[in-house]
Amino acid sequence: MNILILGSGGRESAFAWKIAQSPKCTNLYIAPGNAGTGAYGTNVNLKVTDFEGIKAFALANDINLVLVGPEEPLVKGIHDFFLADEELKNIPVVGPQQEAAQLEGSKDFSKEFMQRNGVPTAASKTFTRDTLQEGMDYLATAGLPIVLKADGLAAGKGVLICLSLEEAKQELNAMLAEAKFGDASSKVVVEQFLQGIELSVFVMTDGNSYKILPEAKDYKRIGEGDTGLNTGGMGSISPVPFADEAFMQKVEQKVIIPTIEGLKKEGIPYKGFIFIGLMNTHGEPWVIEYNCRMGDPETESVMLRIESDFVDLLEGVAEGNLHEKKLIISPKTAATVVCVAGGYPGEYLKNKAIAGIENVRDSHVFHAGTTQVGDEVQATGGRVLAVSSLQDDMFNALQQATADAARIYYDGVYFRKDIGFDLL
Ligand code: AMP
Repeated sequence: MNILILGSGGRESAFAWKIAQSPKCTNLYIAPGNAGTGAYGTNVNLKVTDFEGIKAFALANDINLVLVGPEEPLVKGIHDFFLADEELKNIPVVGPQQEAAQLEGSKDFSKEFMQRNGVPTAASKTFTRDTLQEGMDYLATAGLPIVLKADGLAAGKGVLICLSLEEAKQELNAMLAEAKFGDASSKVVVEQFLQGIELSVFVMTDGNSYKILPEAKDYKRIGEGDTGLNTGGMGSISPVPFADEAFMQKVEQKVIIPTIEGLKKEGIPYKGFIFIGLMNTHGEPWVIEYNCRMGDPETESVMLRIESDFVDLLEGVAEGNLHEKKLIISPKTAATVVCVAGGYPGEYLKNKAIAGIENVRDSHVFHAGTTQVGDEVQATGGRVLAVSSLQDDMFNALQQATADAARIYYDGVYFRKDIGFDLL
């Protein structure tokens, strides 16, 4: 098979690493990829939202399957674009169509979907500019803290946890009346705060059957001890010790099955990954959010634990026979530590030469924000590299990934030294 991966981050690097190992993969392309993905396939200089460019490339290179990494092309309808085109309609796309991608693209859509289908989630109400006053009244009666969520995609910044009524009112006004997040906050979901510990569960589905991929926990804050600003993700670990069999059974019965059945019942086709952000509250799972793609940096840890041929599983999604495929998961622990640019998630240093990757001892270095410039690999993005290690136990995985991250140098390099250690 000739496979095209869309995206350029650590997630896509991990996909490419795994897919390149499959005997079923003849040619692998990554668009646009980064300075590391060229080791697994051929980088293609195309934007993930350049649908016409992707079409021309797919036809010229006899592509047999497209795997979509990030949410943007899905929410913009790349899968629908393929289905509607005579020449492309037989090339399977792994990643949901536009309607189902609303599970991520619109918080209001996803909350309503959960409520209709009995998926446990925090109580909420949605407000618009026209109902701003009702929103203010609602805030006055709701408990604290209270969570405000911009309905649309807001680059991970659209969720605010407000500790006081005054702050909540100010923010609701800023989002609705002053378009704080542009169009994304033309609707705001006001949601009850859930107390507990978070984890991410990943499901692969062909729309009928599903496979539960290894669960993971990610670390979003920039600072050690989960302090400071939110980032795209500073690290991850899989498995998650508190996600024991009893808890995962509840997740399957109360969350995954109603989600898949709900999609079927509502006639919403879904071929791809469902990322379920969960809060474990006293042993009960509550859904915080759905994403319509895999998470980053969870994918880096998850891919290390999948022993089966990943292309075989992707084929199962594409052809609708996922139930016939085998998913084998390693009992080992995978840990990922992300090296970011100095200053990230604010203004950050760019075009810094990276050294020392060759000194890494027992981890995979998945590139994210890197670019090849002449002989140099330069740090060009906020999240630069994901250092992932698979070891027999959690302590060794964490220690190895952290020690190996320290072997890499560029001006301003920063990584958290405490990823996963809260779970030991
Ligand atoms: P989201 O974009 O929905 O994933 O929200 C970003 C982050 O905000 C989540 O990963 C949680 O840490 C936090 N969060 C969102 N909703 C809630 C909630 N209802 N209760 C507590 N924390 C939340």
